[in-house]
Amino acid sequence: MTVREQNYPASPTQTPVPLPDRTRDITIEPSQQQASQPKTGDRRFAQPKLRLKIHDLGHPGAAKFLNAVNAATVVSAAVENVLRLLYRSPSDGDTTVPPTRSVTIVLRDMGGVAYTTGTDLDDDHKAIHFSLNYINSISPASRLKDEITGVITHELVHCYQWDAQGTCPGGLIEGIADWVRLNCNLSPPHWKRETGGDWDRGYQHTAYFLQYLELRFGEGTIRRLNDKLRNDKYKAECFWPELFGQSVDKLFGDYVKKAKDEDGDLCSQ
Ligand SMILES: [Zn+2]
Repeated sequence: MTVREQNYPASPTQTPVPLPDRTRDITIEPSQQQASQPKTGDRRFAQPKLRLKIHDLGHPGAAKFLNAVNAATVVSAAVENVLRLLYRSPSDGDTTVPPTRSVTIVLRDMGGVAYTTGTDLDDDHKAIHFSLNYINSISPASRLKDEITGVITHELVHCYQWDAQGTCPGGLIEGIADWVRLNCNLSPPHWKRETGGDWDRGYQHTAYFLQYLELRFGEGTIRRLNDKLRNDKYKAECFWPELFGQSVDKLFGDYVKKAKDEDGDLCSQ
């Protein structure tokens, strides 16, 4: 039933989840979202129906989550940030937002960190599975709010980004998700700009490369890149030259050189 699944950052174990003893479902109604969001007038994007499902209220990760964040405000603000970074504003008309109608955050006992799914029947409804074990492991406690918000922001990108009809490299999909997280000032302390490996290592490695492109070619560059993934199937030999006039290898080479010039050999690994 899953048509796309992005694991973050590593594949969670896909073991069946036993029926929970204590389950709590929360649907965040639009009226609650209205009350909790900053006023942005008609520039605000339409929000999907947001739901929070907690499989086990007795899990220590559930208590940490509920104590650290107000899900209604955090998730709806994260949706707004994702849409603003990928699509500018609802009134521009120069980009098209995918028709995601609902997002359910599912907190449950599982391995890994988080992943996002759609369904064959209706891919407009998304579920973000978020590990209670991982939430319980976040340390120090002062990191809980930003780490939870950062992971949710990353997964929400998967609910709204284009993927070249399934042909986009996974490293670019994950890089865009962490580029959004980076630009929401939600990068974890261990992230740093690294120049080792290929451009499509994914996650923060690719995110810093995308940030270089955004700064070099101007605000809105990654938004245009995402929009090109809406229109075209991905072919590296066409995709990058059509956007930037040169190959991705040349662009990444320029990025590595600039990073090394700025940081010295400390940034390579
Ligand atoms: Zn991901």
